[in-house]
Amino acid sequence: MDKPIFKLGAGKGEVGVPVNIANDKTLGLYVCSGPEEAVGEEDKTNQIMELNFTGKPGTASSLYYSLVFQLPKWGYNVVKVDEWIEVSPTHKEYYERTVASKQALESTIKAGLASAAQSVADFELLNHDLRKYKEVLDYFEKKDEHSLKAMFIDQVDAHTGEGISMRSIAPRWPTLIYHFQQLKPEDREPDAIAKKLKISKAEAVILATKNKLYEEWKDIFLNAAKSRYETLLGLVEARRKTITEYKEWLKPYLARFRMTRLGGERAHIRAASVKSFFDVSGMATFINGVSIWAWKSLKPIDVKRAPAEVREGFVIYPYDSYVREQFILNPYTGLARYYPWLVHIRKYCNKDKKYYPAETIKCKSCGSVLDNRTVADEIIETQIIPMWKAKELKLDPTALYYVFFDIDVDRAGLRLPVGEAEDITFTVKAFLISQNILLVKILELICRERELERYIDEILGIRSEHKEKEVAELVKEDFPNIFKVKKEKLTPLDEFAMEWKEVKKKYVDFFSKIKKVKTSEFMFSKPGDYEKDFTDRITKQYLTETGSAFNSITKFLKQKMGVS
Ligand SMILES: [Zn+2]
Repeated sequence: MDKPIFKLGAGKGEVGVPVNIANDKTLGLYVCSGPEEAVGEEDKTNQIMELNFTGKPGTASSLYYSLVFQLPKWGYNVVKVDEWIEVSPTHKEYYERTVASKQALESTIKAGLASAAQSVADFELLNHDLRKYKEVLDYFEKKDEHSLKAMFIDQVDAHTGEGISMRSIAPRWPTLIYHFQQLKPEDREPDAIAKKLKISKAEAVILATKNKLYEEWKDIFLNAAKSRYETLLGLVEARRKTITEYKEWLKPYLARFRMTRLGGERAHIRAASVKSFFDVSGMATFINGVSIWAWKSLKPIDVKRAPAEVREGFVIYPYDSYVREQFILNPYTGLARYYPWLVHIRKYCNKDKKYYPAETIKCKSCGSVLDNRTVADEIIETQIIPMWKAKELKLDPTALYYVFFDIDVDRAGLRLPVGEAEDITFTVKAFLISQNILLVKILELICRERELERYIDEILGIRSEHKEKEVAELVKEDFPNIFKVKKEKLTPLDEFAMEWKEVKKKYVDFFSKIKKVKTSEFMFSKPGDYEKDFTDRITKQYLTETGSAFNSITKFLKQKMGVS
């Protein structure tokens, strides 16, 4: 939420995607054409514009809404990426109104939190019981006879009464309990026990009886504990779901609450141009910033290129190793700079296309040795790619290029000697990007969503170790022995396979790097499947379209402002 936006048109060494034009070595690997410099400076591409309008209160907002409603009609997918509002205490009325609405928001959230807190409390209570049963089942799992026997003596046998329970007759046979702990399940015959432990027949008779009772109790108790454990686990999972529902309900309120900052609550105000309103004379009553992204696919008029690779319906698979390493996992200039958890390890089964937690060694369904992947890979392959194939968010597997608009809207309320006014500035930037760059931006949207989720979890006091698994599966994971699951054990062959995979990966990486250098440096042809011919094909086919899309938007805004 407070994280910066991953920049398109980033400078060399900056976090983000650098623009590549003319003879850039990266052409072919991706396409990103758009403005690099800030508004007002020289702009080669003519893909950036700043439009300012001042009018009666309400006029600026209506401009914003008309643009947001118009974009989908032109075929764009529109998302609001960030929003914030800041109210100046110098404007008493407006400030108080905002404080009041913030307080109203706060009490709604608090009421919601109270209900959620009840669910969290229920959850904790059930979880406590669950832990107790888990402890008991752990004894069975580890075949910890000593602890089980101690439990039998204190919690079962003790209730059989004076003169019968082992505790009550222990004064007569001080070694009785010690000897009871020595017994094996097959020790049932008094004579054999007397001989084995070198004790009196009388003591051996008691021990034989107690041992028989103990073994019977163990069977009954194990079954009871197992079923109680499963029931509890089901209840705990149900509560977890309830908490998730509360979270979903609270999310929009919390997001709104978080974006409303009073006075100097927000540490840094992003737009310097808006900030100046405050600096002038404290005339601004509020400032409000919104960032929106809009994109749609571009198809050239002349399609002559042969598809390089058709995979799962894509002309070119949008997730490639260059983008993965350069713009996602790179800890200095990639998305991982802002969202370091993207590089966390996840395990992956190549055969089943399934992801597992980092500590898993072998695939749960086919048993093969797993590969190392990352959280970023998992999000992309399990969330973004399916969305893409289903053509959601105006994504199209057959399109290779998109026009992407980055629109910043800064609105300010002004108090002038002649009355109130509203001022709005639209900063419109147009980019031509290849689909793999759009994939990075969509991943960024998901990252922002996840961080909001984490913030809500923190507020609710939930440790987000989300276990979205079947109860039965959880049971088996916790107690593989007593719920009869084959324990995964690595054979020497598996170990070899694992090592070999690592070694092979290193070789493949090494040789593919050499190949890259060779093709780009020595053979004078650029690697990658995207357009390499900037002057002719990119400029003529795509940039003209991007340019006309840019013109439609700026023309529309100018018309609405009455300045065309
Ligand atoms: Zn598998």
